[in-house]
Amino acid sequence: MKTALITGGTSGIGLGIAKQYLSAGMRVVVFGVGDLEAPKRELNAVSPQHEQRWSVAQVDLIDPIARDKALGNLQGIDVLVNCAGIQHVSPVQDFPADKWEAIISLNLSAAFYTSQAVLPHMLDQGWGRVINIASAHGLVASPFKSAYIAAKHGIIGLTKTLALEVAEQGITVNAICPGYVRTPLVEGQIDDQMAAHGIPRENVIQDIMLAPQPTKRFVEIDEVAALATFLTTSGAASITGAELKVDGGWTAR
Ligand code: NAD
Repeated sequence: MKTALITGGTSGIGLGIAKQYLSAGMRVVVFGVGDLEAPKRELNAVSPQHEQRWSVAQVDLIDPIARDKALGNLQGIDVLVNCAGIQHVSPVQDFPADKWEAIISLNLSAAFYTSQAVLPHMLDQGWGRVINIASAHGLVASPFKSAYIAAKHGIIGLTKTLALEVAEQGITVNAICPGYVRTPLVEGQIDDQMAAHGIPRENVIQDIMLAPQPTKRFVEIDEVAALATFLTTSGAASITGAELKVDGGWTAR
């Protein structure tokens, strides 16, 4: 049975991936912050806790001490999904330095540290999967999201570099680039975008979020999770170093 570590697996896309991985027969280790009871209930509905196929831990990956302690206790991770992420929307001249540092730390640097922690086991066994949840904003920019877009472009660079380093060892490393998915992260952005652009909620959804997505609908969590599940299968063994778009056609323009 394969074991997956999913950072940011307590909400939104990461929780969706955790549930699909459990359904696919994997064991799942989830890191997140905040409320852990709601995700535990959702995971329990897929796989009862007494089967011991999942665990959920409060791990703040921005805090180096908490991060290193949690990563030091890991064993036997076969699949790593770096999904933890935060956002802040503001013009560069007003962008708070602490928000910049936090976003770079979580959305980019944490993936470096988790990769370092799980690679020895993957290299020993000659098999592994690293899946970085980047974004369409890892490929193209939009105004007012400097830290997020810098981090997401950065994680695609990390993805390609690591993919080249471990390509002969049975380990694939890929980035998934979703367009807008309606999760708590995006709900929070709607208010920020209303303030940054000075426009009402519905205009943010239609004119900013869905305007670049030719499908004119939000991407579904399950659509992102389905690709993350496929990447763990033998059929995906030759996909590595790739930026895989699940963006409703956004970046086809
Ligand atoms: P979400 O807010 O629903 O989930 C974020 C997760 O990150 C949660 O599990 C949370 O506990 C975790 N997290 C937050 N701060 C943390 C910290 N300090 N340490 C450890 N974990 C922390 O968001 P989501 O929309 O599901 O986003 C998940 C990932 O997908 C992010 O990397 C995001 O950038 C990316 N993404 C989201 C969208 C979208 O439209 N929702 C689009 C493209 C990419």
